[in-house]
Amino acid sequence: MKPHPLPKTVAPLPDELLSGWLSRLAAANYCDDAELLAHIKIDTAHGTALDFCVDAATAERIANAARVDPDVVRSLTFPSMTPREASLTAQMPFQHCVQCSREGLSLRHWRRAWAFDCQVCGTRLVQTLGKPREEQISGKLIFRARRGAGMLECAARSRGPKQLRRAMRAVTFAMSLKTFRGDPSFAVQNPRSEVRLFCLAAIAAARSHPLAKAAIVSKSIDDYARVALLRAFEKEPRLLAAIDHIAQRRAKSAGPMTASSHN
Ligand SMILES: [Zn+2]
Repeated sequence: MKPHPLPKTVAPLPDELLSGWLSRLAAANYCDDAELLAHIKIDTAHGTALDFCVDAATAERIANAARVDPDVVRSLTFPSMTPREASLTAQMPFQHCVQCSREGLSLRHWRRAWAFDCQVCGTRLVQTLGKPREEQISGKLIFRARRGAGMLECAARSRGPKQLRRAMRAVTFAMSLKTFRGDPSFAVQNPRSEVRLFCLAAIAAARSHPLAKAAIVSKSIDDYARVALLRAFEKEPRLLAAIDHIAQRRAKSAGPMTASSHN
C-alpha cells in the first residue's frame, strides 16, 4: 500500500543531501525525521543511511510521498566514487556550516574530508564535536589546515596513489604526536577540530619541508616523541633511519636555541 503524499513538499537545493532534504521535508510537515521515515515506511531510524545508497523501491516511495520524480530523489545521494574519494567521504556528518545549518541545510560537500569552507556562503566549516570556543583556535593553524585541505583534495583526485600516500604519512605522524589512534583517513574526518586541523596542517607542513625534519624542528624530540615516531614509521625503516640521523645531529648541536637555524 502506498503511503499518502505529504501535505507539503519542499524543492531540493543544489548539493543538498537526501537526509538533509528529508529533514526539511519533515519540518515542513510538522514532524521529526523518524516520524517521516515511518510514514513513508522506510525501515531505518536515520536518513543518513540513505545518503550513499537508495534502492529503487525506496526512492519510489519517497518520491511519491514528496510528489517529486524518483530521479530527483536519487540525485540527492552520492554519485559513484573512486576508492580514494570514498575513503575520504564521511558516512556520518562530522562538520557543518553554522550559517547554512540554521536554515536546515545539510550539504554533500561538507562530508568530504578536504572540505574546509562552505561552498554556499564561504563560512569556515566547524566540526560537530568542536570545542564551544572555536574562536580560540589560532589563525595560523587554520591557515595551514586550509592549505593542507586543498592539498588533500588534489591528492584524492590525482591519478596516481603517490600524493595521497604522502599526505597520509604526514597525517600518521601528526596522529602519533597527538597520540590519536586509528586510520589516518578517519583522523581527517574527525568530528573534533583539534585532531582534524592538526592533521590537515601536517599535510601542508610535509609539503614545504621534508616531513621528518619539519616535525623535529617544530617539536623538540624527547623520549615521548621518539616512541611516537617509532610507532608511526615502524614499517618504513629507511624513513626512520633518516629521522634518527637528523635527531642525532640535533642532539650534538648546541641546544634548543639553535634549532631554528637548522630549518
Ligand atoms: Zn554555508
